[in-house]
Amino acid sequence: MLILVLNSGSSSIKYKLFDIQVSSERLLDKGLLERIGEKIPSHKEAINIILDKAGSKIDAVGHRVVHGGDRFKESILIDDNVIKAIEDFIELAPLHNPPSLLTINESRKILSNIPHVAVFDTAFYYDMPEYAYFYAIPYKFYEKYKIRKYGFHGTSHRYVSEQAERLLKKPLNELKLITCHLGNGCSITAVKNGKAIDTSMGFTPLEGLVMGTRSGDLDPAIIPYIMEKENIDVNAVMDILNKKSGLLGISGLSNDMRELMKEKGANKKAKLALDIFIYRIKKYIGAYMGVMSGCDAVIFTGGIGENNPGLIEEICKGVVSKETKTLVIPTDEELMIARDTYRIAVS
Ligand code: ADP
Repeated sequence: MLILVLNSGSSSIKYKLFDIQVSSERLLDKGLLERIGEKIPSHKEAINIILDKAGSKIDAVGHRVVHGGDRFKESILIDDNVIKAIEDFIELAPLHNPPSLLTINESRKILSNIPHVAVFDTAFYYDMPEYAYFYAIPYKFYEKYKIRKYGFHGTSHRYVSEQAERLLKKPLNELKLITCHLGNGCSITAVKNGKAIDTSMGFTPLEGLVMGTRSGDLDPAIIPYIMEKENIDVNAVMDILNKKSGLLGISGLSNDMRELMKEKGANKKAKLALDIFIYRIKKYIGAYMGVMSGCDAVIFTGGIGENNPGLIEEICKGVVSKETKTLVIPTDEELMIARDTYRIAVS
């Protein structure tokens, strides 16, 4: 079965084309279309370019959707109700859900006779315990505005958890795992018996670990304080926390781990950025080991997690015991999306 996977951002679409059979998975093609809105006029033209390349034999399309709110426990066949729900969650993911919707709507128009499946970043966290996803603010804000921890990168955390099951040769439902997705965005998830029981990203992807340009955890009182001192509005502060903080903000140099690794000997701020990055991950690993009463394996993935053995050693030093395995597993969110799409399309 030929499955096209589409992962849409505001100005880019990543795609992979797989041939998925009962006992085999083959990547046939992949690509990235960038500068949509400039070089390529719109998502519609971008989809047409991808479909021209992919040929006319596609059997199903899998779409990455960042925010499924509190509606979607798992991947789902797209119909008009699903579209409506994704639209409803635009408020919670204003940067992410609109491009997914554009892509879904355009590709459903062109490929109207085949199944389209939505795979949500948030779905892996659907079953987290209430005490893990509630914020200790008045309950009415959960009721009125759905303010809670949602968690993101779920498809990646689920993929590496399933890979770990194979590597550790033990059923996922008997494993305690801590999965660290360290890319430009970074998140860490506690996976107990195959279910995510806590994760570092929250109501938005801003919470948790130090990231390329995002601050991660901080005292919320800092926000009005900066607004007052700098005489800027809340949007400007949010812009600082999302785009000018993290590794970039501390180092003043770069959001790119490779740059900071190069400069850490000579540049004190680059070294400090790395130290804070590592320390925050250590704290989360320690906390998740605590709440799971131990851990079989800590898994690293994403551009940083997959390419920095020295950094992983630093992170694990003193916090991960000898009984706990450390695994590096390259993520493949698109393959996970293709697997879900296949399962739903054949059922
Ligand atoms: P995204 O979250 O955008 O998918 P990636 O998973 O590609 O991003 O991760 C990007 C990060 O990975 C950057 O900080 C980059 O420096 C880091 N990275 C990528 N390759 C390497 C490498 N070979 N060595 C060290 N860091 C790397």
